Amino acid sequence: MPTIITHAAIPLAIGVTLGPTRISTRLLLAGMFAAMAPDMDVVAFKLGIAYADQFGHRGASHSIAFALALGGLAALLAPWLRAKRWVAWAFISTACVSHPLLDMCTTGGLGAALLWPFSDQRLFFSTQVIRVSPLTVQRFLSPAGLAVIKSEMMWVWLPCIALMLAALAARRAARTPAAG
Ligand SMILES: [Zn+2]
Repeated sequence: MPTIITHAAIPLAIGVTLGPTRISTRLLLAGMFAAMAPDMDVVAFKLGIAYADQFGHRGASHSIAFALALGGLAALLAPWLRAKRWVAWAFISTACVSHPLLDMCTTGGLGAALLWPFSDQRLFFSTQVIRVSPLTVQRFLSPAGLAVIKSEMMWVWLPCIALMLAALAARRAARTPAAG
């Protein structure tokens, strides 16, 4: 995985870009949660489930099917999320599926079981640019950990921040009446 917090950058950027009238704060926070949720599967290691198992790390929870199901749950909770049902469904599904897609850009571990339950195959993109994040804290606090943060900054955070700043600037420009 990229570092778990980095997964939240994607729905944050999409939500800020679409703006608060379309994506409520509650839905935005739920989206950030949905983008991190697939990695709760690391409990599989504790439960003795093998990495390569369909319910192991980067298994079923890293599939399109899981993302669509989580989106369905969000659609049920749409009134509480202060969103239209289809918006809640689309935003949460997108946030969640962005997680395995990012994982598929990382340089290590097994790929994501994107097509589960139709296929258990673990998939990667042909180009992997994001350094895989260590799964233990000790290894994270090392030069290798720093390299991970640098690669996530460059490939995820910088483009996301640029997108958000551009969207905010565009909204401000739209609000300010043209002078003269
Ligand atoms: Zn993951």
